[in-house]
Amino acid sequence: PVALSGITTRFGTQCVHEDLALEIRRGEIVGLVGGSGSGKSTLLRIVALLDCPQAGSVRLFGVDAGTASAAELNALRRRFSMMFQQGALFSSLSVRENVALPLQEHTALPARLIDELARLKIALAGLPADAADKLPDQLSGGMIKRAAVARALALDPELLLLDEPTAGLDPLGAAAFDELVLELRAALGLTVLIVTHDLDTLWRVTDRVAFLGERRVLACAPVAELARAAHPQIHAYFAGPRA
Ligand code: ATP
Ligand code: MG
Repeated sequence: PVALSGITTRFGTQCVHEDLALEIRRGEIVGLVGGSGSGKSTLLRIVALLDCPQAGSVRLFGVDAGTASAAELNALRRRFSMMFQQGALFSSLSVRENVALPLQEHTALPARLIDELARLKIALAGLPADAADKLPDQLSGGMIKRAAVARALALDPELLLLDEPTAGLDPLGAAAFDELVLELRAALGLTVLIVTHDLDTLWRVTDRVAFLGERRVLACAPVAELARAAHPQIHAYFAGPRA
């Protein structure tokens, strides 16, 4: 569903990506790692069509975003969802209202059906039914992430983009979130691109890990392979925190 090639991204004189390539296959869970400031969030935003690189091709579901019509881009946008680092829920709306919002905006379904769909997504994200009527700040950090996932699932995306979803969760909460990602892939056949600094997450859920360094994807391989990589930057990343 995702094919990036020749991606070059600059902010002013700073070059963040240079001739970067990355391919993700349907149903894969791919981790995106690299040092702070290596351009992971920016790359996620490029895949989500929120940022536009200075050069290169972004193909989603076989459609070249650079040459697609406005109608084609709108259709593409319906096929993926991005979960931002902070969850980005509306704090004055209940969880159910947050999840209903994309359905109200993008479908013509009657209110009753939207309500039922929202409850279904909330259950899919592993939240108890009584969470639906709570406000985000009445939930724990882990439950807020699940609510954000429920909203991301509202329009039945095929591709989920997650920016550091387990940041700020305790180890058990992070493990439970990872389990959810695996369950969603199994249940819905989702393709997932997940930016993370959590090595446990890489081992638990990813099929492959893309390592961002020197402005490109230095390697994209199963985590066991990356952990043995000879490249000094990759080696340091995997050896560092636990050595
Ligand atoms: P972290 O692990 O800290 O989240 P990251 O890998 O996600 O880092 P990005 O947020 O993609 O890194 O940023 C990459 C570089 O691009 C940084 O140097 C950042 O300052 C710069 N950058 C990102 N967005 C912008 C912007 N809108 N304007 C100017 N510079 C930006
Ligand atoms: Mg980031």
